[in-house]
Amino acid sequence: MDSKANMYPNMQGEPPKYGDLGAPMMIPAEQMPMTPQPAVIAVQQPAVYMNPPTQPILGSMPAVVTCPACNTRQFSVVKHEASTKTHLLAMLICILGGVCCCCIPYCVDSCQNATHHCPSCGAYIGTYQN
Ligand SMILES: [Zn+2]
Repeated sequence: MDSKANMYPNMQGEPPKYGDLGAPMMIPAEQMPMTPQPAVIAVQQPAVYMNPPTQPILGSMPAVVTCPACNTRQFSVVKHEASTKTHLLAMLICILGGVCCCCIPYCVDSCQNATHHCPSCGAYIGTYQN
């Protein structure tokens, strides 16, 4: 009988101590600063549909344009006029190439502005600046 007396050892040991581990880790409130989020206002940009220009891009050559005055659609009359760039170019050529060459920009259409006018009523339509 005594052989079975010690079969079950004394299970009533000390209860597990939870005193040190029982308290959950409290996260200090300072670690999570409540920064006020700026209100992001989504400004919905309205889609801007650019109207295609009624007038074609004017060049140094006559172009088919719609006259704003008489509303006719025909080739414009191009007049070449000396612009500030023409004068500057003439001055540069005068310095570099001599006085006899300084009139070249005034003779070359590509060095001058092209003003487009209506062939019917002569209304000013636009200027192509070289
Ligand atoms: Zn016209």
